[in-house]
Amino acid sequence: NGFATMGLNAILLKAVDAAGMIAPKPIQQQAIPAQLAGQDILGIAQTGSGKTAAFALPILQKIITIGDKRKGKTARALVLAPTRELAVQIEETFRTLAKGAHISTALVLGGVSRIAQINKMQAGVDVLIATPGRLTDLVRDNRIDLSETRWLVLDEADRMLDMGFINDVKKIAKGTHRDRQTALFSATMPQEVATLAASLLRNPVRVEV
Ligand code: AMP
Repeated sequence: NGFATMGLNAILLKAVDAAGMIAPKPIQQQAIPAQLAGQDILGIAQTGSGKTAAFALPILQKIITIGDKRKGKTARALVLAPTRELAVQIEETFRTLAKGAHISTALVLGGVSRIAQINKMQAGVDVLIATPGRLTDLVRDNRIDLSETRWLVLDEADRMLDMGFINDVKKIAKGTHRDRQTALFSATMPQEVATLAASLLRNPVRVEV
């Protein structure tokens, strides 16, 4: 398996195998080793490129390596996505790739009841996947604490900005841990996405596929 040389642990390699992933896609080849080395990523990539696994595997590797460390209302990693559908897909990918590991995930989305989301967050989770509007609400209401969030992913950043989420995204990012690692993926790189990337990423590795 082509993922074996990337330094991923045995649990993840087994899950990758079980998912039928034999050869890393170009974005995975470039982005996974860089993130494992602690670097921020600026990824220009479309849906179907394999970008989800490109950010999920390094996050899972780090969380598995550190081990259990959940605290109430916190999320160790946060993935922001523009739509509910995409967020649901991202959570499925995390669950598939975390098979066999003790990793908890949660979804925080608009348009559905807050109660179940609040309850799920009580004990804290490893990976939270959220749309910006609802997450902003729950952070404001003190239901979610992002101060321990050390991995942040912005997926489809251009669509999040098109949907008017810029202020929410900035506020959310500001509330995360100052020593976080960040990855931003976007299909296009208009000026406002580049400006956002410049404000959130530290010496990012640029990956274009
Ligand atoms: P994404 O671009 O993240 O939405 O992924 C698109 C599809 O490609 C998903 O169905 C993944 O399961 C699949 N995929 C991702 N990486 C690989 C890989 N290395 N080998 C085969 N399929 C993959």
